[in-house]
Amino acid sequence: MTKAIRIHAPGGPEAMKWEDVPTPEPGPGEVVVRHGAVGLNYIDVYFRTGLYKAPQMPLTLGMEGAGTVTALGSGVTEFAVGDRVAYAGAIGAYATERALPADKLVKLPDAIDFRTGAAMMLQGMTAQYLVRRTHTVKPGETIVVHAAAGGVGLILCQWAKHIGATVIGVVSSEAKAELARAHGAAHTVIGYQNLVSEVKRITGGAMVPLVYDSVGKDTFTVSLDCLAPLGLMASYGNASGPVPPVDVGILAAKGSLYLTRPTLATYTAKRADLLATAQDLFDVVASGAVKIAVNQSFPLAEAAAAHIALESRATTGSTVLIP
Ligand code: NDP
Repeated sequence: MTKAIRIHAPGGPEAMKWEDVPTPEPGPGEVVVRHGAVGLNYIDVYFRTGLYKAPQMPLTLGMEGAGTVTALGSGVTEFAVGDRVAYAGAIGAYATERALPADKLVKLPDAIDFRTGAAMMLQGMTAQYLVRRTHTVKPGETIVVHAAAGGVGLILCQWAKHIGATVIGVVSSEAKAELARAHGAAHTVIGYQNLVSEVKRITGGAMVPLVYDSVGKDTFTVSLDCLAPLGLMASYGNASGPVPPVDVGILAAKGSLYLTRPTLATYTAKRADLLATAQDLFDVVASGAVKIAVNQSFPLAEAAAAHIALESRATTGSTVLIP
């Protein structure tokens, strides 16, 4: 047997149970990974609460991990037992060891430890596609980043600054503002009540070509109001709840705006895209331009406490769970 955090029905943090589960066996095209560390992500909360539909029950939560390959299924040629690997986007990570399709894995560079690997894959590859593909962030642009002191947020701030953009980071406290500034935000705004007037002041009335909004329901309209004509609203998360149905006429009224709701799953569905996204992330981390802030760590068995911290906005940067 091995151990995993499972839910038997959607619910609060108390729905998560630390249980014995059968030792994983690799199916065709699969590998077994023994986790050195597991990543905590907001999407884990969405699966736990039922906002995102569970593929089956009981469900082992978690999308991201880093560790060592311990067994290979038939047909796997790209990996060997003993390889150091990492992945994002395969549900079932809150476990000591687990089987998953080999084509979800990438080899983890030797310089990156398992904690950092588990912290960076999902949030870092998300930041990668957001700055490189959803919109190509350009030097001299001023952009808005919500939840700027969060996991994705701190990576976005650093990466956009590295490209040469000016980041206006939105956070909920002075301590988080300081952290966002230390990670590259040129300006910070506390709360979104004054965000539109602050963006107007900072940009001299021009407003911004791009908002990265992971907060969802609470900030959707405010974010649209920060955009210059033809601006892009990248609504990539729902930390405050999902955005209600949108009347597309609002995009006309506010200046022929663009709206996208991107997901990492779409951007890395092709193996070549997954490998290129991960490589770009590894390169920017190796260069030192983006540092992964692993600011919290919990025993995997105490994943419920980690969820409580994440949902109560008590975390900053990335969080890992240690089996
Ligand atoms: P974060 O570390 O950013 O944590 C969430 C943060 O959101 C909080 O710290 C808080 O920051 C802010 N927030 C604002 N309103 C609320 C609220 N009502 N309840 C809780 N938090 C709130 O998490 P992650 O980095 O893991 O993820 C960030 C977001 O990005 C999530 O929405 C996630 O779903 C999304 N995401 C989307 C992906 C995609 O491909 N589409 C992939 C990865 C993540 P503050 O206190 O400063 O307001």
